[in-house]
Amino acid sequence: MARSAPNVLVTGTPGTGKTSLSEQVAAATGLKHLNIGDLVKSQQLHTGWDDEFECLVIDEDKVCDALEDLMAEGGCLVDYHGCDFFPERWFDLVVVLQADNTVLWERLEKRGYSERKVQENVQCEIMHVIVEEARDSYGEGVVHVLQSSTAEEMEENVERLTQWARSWRPSS
Ligand code: ADP
Ligand code: MN
Repeated sequence: MARSAPNVLVTGTPGTGKTSLSEQVAAATGLKHLNIGDLVKSQQLHTGWDDEFECLVIDEDKVCDALEDLMAEGGCLVDYHGCDFFPERWFDLVVVLQADNTVLWERLEKRGYSERKVQENVQCEIMHVIVEEARDSYGEGVVHVLQSSTAEEMEENVERLTQWARSWRPSS
């Protein structure tokens, strides 16, 4: 069955601005913001704590099961720092956010991440890990890479996504 509203994935290294962007686009469009990190915690969709990476180990199958009905309906804005385990068919648009390395470093320090965790995430950004993951997982026309280092860029991104969502029509 065709979706009546689009599904959007907002991905990128932690700290690039996914949640800020998603909240604003959801408020402007009525898309439902699904913060996967929060969902994993509140619904226990994980297998425990990873001491090495200092994060919960997400249970990808459980997450996908929890989302299936919502995604089939459409109108979801999924916010997560990984993208290769979602079914490709779910998304009409995949946005990868990128930020300047020094800007990202400061944001993650402010968040209280350990120096090692900051370093790992900035390294992930430098290596374009999420951009490549997105390009490997979704069609060429679906993936859009947007810069999110400055407030102006954030504003532009909100505007672009809002316009895109408003003009989206189901394909017949
Ligand atoms: P993510 O969800 O990708 O981890 P957040 O949306 O939580 O990132 O943003 C991390 C921090 O950086 C927040 O304090 C947010 O206000 C700030 N931020 C995000 N994007 C921008 C931007 N484009 N310009 C200025 N500050 C930003
Ligand atoms: Mn976030």
